[in-house]
Amino acid sequence: MKILLIGRDGQLGWELQRALAPLGELVAAGRRGDGPVADLARPDSLAALVRQVQPELIVNAAAHTAVDRAETEPAVAQALNADAPGVLAREAAALGATLVHYSTDYVFDGSGQEARDEDAPTGPLSVYGRTKLAGEQQVQASGCRHLILRTSWVYAARGGNFARTMLRLAAERDGLRVIDDQVGAPTGAELIADVTAHAVRRLQREPALAGLYHLAAAGQTSWHGYACHVIEWARARGHPVRVAADAVRPIPTRDYPTPAARPLNSRLDTRRLRDAFGLHLPPWQQGVDRMLDEVLGPGA
Ligand code: NDP
Repeated sequence: MKILLIGRDGQLGWELQRALAPLGELVAAGRRGDGPVADLARPDSLAALVRQVQPELIVNAAAHTAVDRAETEPAVAQALNADAPGVLAREAAALGATLVHYSTDYVFDGSGQEARDEDAPTGPLSVYGRTKLAGEQQVQASGCRHLILRTSWVYAARGGNFARTMLRLAAERDGLRVIDDQVGAPTGAELIADVTAHAVRRLQREPALAGLYHLAAAGQTSWHGYACHVIEWARARGHPVRVAADAVRPIPTRDYPTPAARPLNSRLDTRRLRDAFGLHLPPWQQGVDRMLDEVLGPGA
């Protein structure tokens, strides 16, 4: 199978390079640098790349993921998050290829306390959420065989992430304030990439499995719970931690204003994915601890 990966250098793209490699001949495109180039802002060149590579599978891990910046550049976010996936999907349809595309819990308004399934009404609060939802709709309208995987709170060992920021601040400061009324599941790029590879293999044999799925690690926490978990992980292993356990203070979202509104309830119901593909999704702590081990080492 010939595979075209778009966005090879992002958190997820990097892990997909590893996870997709055993499935076939992988052409991994980045925004710049050596090798094939795929710029979501240039739809003509994107279509030309697909026609040149002639893949059976296209995996799009690239997106405009700067949630706050998207508020001031909605046209750019629309081009990258909605129109570019539309181009890829229509090219996939013309070729008879499958498209894997990623979306987000930010397509929801975050009301209530229950985990949302794939049929729950959407209601994005931000430009990022609206443009990601428009991207899903363009993929669905294209008629190509597709998997759209909505995920949440993505982290990876490579690049900056929330856990690393908390550990740096915990080593520098006496006190921290962290939001405790946004609830979701931190989900590793490694897990998303591995599930993608598994799902693609199954889809080859059972095309009827195509569609929209929620993919997140099991369990739930708040950003405050997430921060406390990583700080206590580091403390227990002798890494430098200055902040006292009781000095990591929970605060409501309204005390930490940001340009983009974020959903309070980011819980995703993953039953459809688990049932369709026979998958077990591990608790969020498992992937986070593994990432911390990778980034910081086993400690003193
Ligand atoms: P990253 O921000 O780590 O990676 C996004 C990639 O897209 C980067 O490599 C970036 O390149 C690339 N990119 C940006 N603009 C362009 C462009 N014009 N042309 C080509 N490439 C471009 O994101 P993640 O890996 O975390 O996200 C993967 C997917 O998961 C996305 O669809 C995202 O919407 C979704 N998602 C992410 C969540 C998160 O918490 N991060 C939560 C839920 C869903 P460069 O580095 O050069 O900017």
